[in-house]
Amino acid sequence: MAAPRFILSSEALQQAPVCLTGADARHARVLRLQSGDEVRLCDGQGREWSARIAGVTPQALALGELTPLAAQPEPALQVTLYQGLARGDKLELIVQKGTELGMTRLVPMVTAHSQLRLEAASPKRIRWQEIARQAARQCGRTRVPEVAAPLSFAQALTEGLSAEVAIMPFERAGAEHSWKRQLASKAQVNTVSLFIGPEGGFSDQEMDLALAAGVQGVSLGPRILRSETAGLITVALALFQWGDLGGGA
Ligand code: SAH
Repeated sequence: MAAPRFILSSEALQQAPVCLTGADARHARVLRLQSGDEVRLCDGQGREWSARIAGVTPQALALGELTPLAAQPEPALQVTLYQGLARGDKLELIVQKGTELGMTRLVPMVTAHSQLRLEAASPKRIRWQEIARQAARQCGRTRVPEVAAPLSFAQALTEGLSAEVAIMPFERAGAEHSWKRQLASKAQVNTVSLFIGPEGGFSDQEMDLALAAGVQGVSLGPRILRSETAGLITVALALFQWGDLGGGA
């Protein structure tokens, strides 16, 4: 069995000894971890250690010496997904699966056709961040993707244009806009921004604004994908093309 993984705060990692407490201790108990068992610890910022359990009390598990590990699970490609907000809990799915795929950052975005306003979206951020953390732990990532504060479309556009490539899939894009034609031959990049519309899609005005600002419009094919499918597949396409999805560099 692979050593169970725990993501600890930097304060917790500075304690002597480092201990698993609270929910982590409960999780360790469920796994029936005992003295001598190996665990993996990470700080959520890209560093990872191996340690053995040195002592168990009802409240906490104390760990022995921490041995740093060379972390491999993070892609070099930084993918930020600007995801149009919709009603319901679809963003939870996107956060979870996007984390598994290797997304770096998710920015919930309120657009003209979003059914969720900024005020309603903001309180959900804590839950979304926790989902990212759990997904990172489960899939072996050492860096927890950031779920940023929700932005308006205009704010997202300004921010997203600072990446080397900014991509906006839109469902009316024709064959001339196909990903394969537009992007497959594009040389290696390190930062990518992806703009995905909500259920109702982008407004014409938003589309025009983005394309005029230099965002690359692409087609994802002849079928209309749901917003969450489009977000996740675009993350996958970017990481397949310029990242480590599919294995290797
Ligand atoms: N307005 C559409 C649905 C929008 S789908 C309608 O109701 O008919 C939500 C988002 O997914 C779109 O804004 C777009 O970014 C993306 N998307 C879905 N299918 C797509 C496709 N075939 N090609 C490119 N983008 C697509």
